[in-house]
Amino acid sequence: MLHPTFATPDLTTFCRLDELGLVAVGQLIEPDRATIECRVVEDDPWCRKCGVEGVPRDTVTRRLAHEPFGHRPTTLLVRVRRYRCGHCRRTWRQDMTRAAAPRAKISRGGLEWALRGIVIDHLTVTRVAAGLGVSWSAANAAVLAEGKRRLIDDPARFDGVGLTP
Ligand SMILES: [Zn+2]
Repeated sequence: MLHPTFATPDLTTFCRLDELGLVAVGQLIEPDRATIECRVVEDDPWCRKCGVEGVPRDTVTRRLAHEPFGHRPTTLLVRVRRYRCGHCRRTWRQDMTRAAAPRAKISRGGLEWALRGIVIDHLTVTRVAAGLGVSWSAANAAVLAEGKRRLIDDPARFDGVGLTP
């Protein structure tokens, strides 16, 4: 007999935000969309320039399209801490490259969902864009870039590919 072990319900793991270095701290569910408020898990207090510990200064927000849940486009509203170095005056933001590439509008989880949708489920770009809640051109550009990155950056991409006569 199977005895599954249930854990306490947890939005962070359910939405795979832990894999992005984020933790869910709030949710806003609307009929046609959902927003998850997140924080970056890792502190990032050390000055990039001189290595001195910086002082948290304020917080900025960044919006990322994430994979949809229950056919609702789901947006991550990430609160990112900004630090200032008291020694050299440099300012910086918490590193969140695990969650998304710099300047990207779509989370790495959202990108993976989009790529799987197109390659495995044969969804159209229109459908993927609607799922992410972004424009067709934004979805198309992101999927092309991610597909290309994975093909080119993965030297093992042809492993196991056999030529059958
Ligand atoms: Zn510094």
